[in-house]
Amino acid sequence: IERSPAEQEFHQAVETIFDTLEPVIRKHPDYAQAKLLERICEPERQIIFRVPWVDDQGYVQINRGYRVEFNSALGPYKGGLRFHPSVTLGVVKFLGFEQIFKNSLTGLPIGGGKGGADFDPKDKSDNEIMHFCQSFMTELHRHIGEYTDVPAGDIGVGTREIGYLFGQYKRLTNRYESGVLTGKGLYWGGARVRTEATGYGTAYFVNEMLSAHGNGLDDRDVVVSGSGNVAIYAMKKIQELGGRVIACSDSSGYIHDSAGIDVELIKQIKEVERGRISEYPKRSHHNATFVPGRAVWEVPCHVALPCATQNELDAHAAKNLIKNDVIAVAEGANMPCTPEAVELFRDAGILFGPGKAANAGGVATSALEMQQNASRDSWTFEYSESRLKEIMTNIHANCYETAEEYGRPGDYISGANIAGFTRVAEAMLAFGVI
Ligand code: NDP
Repeated sequence: IERSPAEQEFHQAVETIFDTLEPVIRKHPDYAQAKLLERICEPERQIIFRVPWVDDQGYVQINRGYRVEFNSALGPYKGGLRFHPSVTLGVVKFLGFEQIFKNSLTGLPIGGGKGGADFDPKDKSDNEIMHFCQSFMTELHRHIGEYTDVPAGDIGVGTREIGYLFGQYKRLTNRYESGVLTGKGLYWGGARVRTEATGYGTAYFVNEMLSAHGNGLDDRDVVVSGSGNVAIYAMKKIQELGGRVIACSDSSGYIHDSAGIDVELIKQIKEVERGRISEYPKRSHHNATFVPGRAVWEVPCHVALPCATQNELDAHAAKNLIKNDVIAVAEGANMPCTPEAVELFRDAGILFGPGKAANAGGVATSALEMQQNASRDSWTFEYSESRLKEIMTNIHANCYETAEEYGRPGDYISGANIAGFTRVAEAMLAFGVI
């Protein structure tokens, strides 16, 4: 805290993880001796840079770009880029720190990193987005590479932005290095199922949690926050697995559709038209309502999937969900539940899937994209989805069994943190003091 003051989100992420690692440190005195905890929360490298660009009116604009290369014990740094006005060094560090453990849990050879800029893509023209991405990559290209650091998308960075970033990287380096970025389009090195992966993975994870506790998704009411990439595909897979998604949201409010959300209509409004969720009731054949300015957690449900942003589900929302008999919560977003909310869920015995496990499907499929790029191959949708499903099942089993092994049955937070940490710790130990 002394070394990085004013990085509230980062401190929150570190505290949440360290709180659960005490039994591992007790079991492995060599970890403490090698100061692994102190080392793991200090990024290997942090890059902060100016991103100048010219808007459509001819005015010069300046943003701040970041890439935090946190830990490369298991492989090249891997993690998304976020373009959003709320991006600060503290936010990027919290995301990068979480990413180390998440990537470890996938069992794949990827380290942890994260980046982004305080750029607001909302209401920007295509031309402005392109110029911003080109300027951002003009600095970033010096620091990334297939064997070094492989960024992907996150909030505000989708296939369009990855396209502009990849184009500029290719132009600056004169190399068609497919493996330098993931989340690419299918015609130029992208992987099938990457778009769907995080949301699908979250749905698989919650289904596994319920099954392991003698329950299922059949006929369950599910509420999802957000209506972006993660939310859309979580809703789609939940429906395929038998659940009924009755509400979702965006930053302006939520929609309630007790007949079941029409995901194709949400896709049209949010993905294609980049519009607002308030459009849904006007265009749906169902009797749906839009509730402006309120969080979706007031809708009674059995399963809640926060898939929007950090700290969006607080103690008040958690109490409401518990009062309405929620049985499971899984984080599709990164750290969407506040520590107070998590504690309330734990005390009430609600099944809780932390983001680093429940939303790991996205980065796992990015690692599969890297595999395909390295072998100049392209897998079918069915094969890619079967790999994703297998990875999510393994992550669930790993968290479940680790929690049991450390005397905390059903505590997926401890299971995920301990299992994720142990793999990184063993590699760091093997490399000596670096
Ligand atoms: P998108 O930008 O596609 O979507 C974000 C959605 O959340 C939008 O619908 C946005 O609404 C909504 N939103 C933002 N703030 C709020 C709020 N306070 N209340 C309600 N809704 C809100 O992002 P992604 O879906 O890609 O990412 C969502 C989360 O998942 C992030 O935490 C991200 O880090 C995490 N994640 C994403 C992965 C991926 O593969 N995409 C992988 C792993 C984690 P609006 O349209 O109004 O802005």
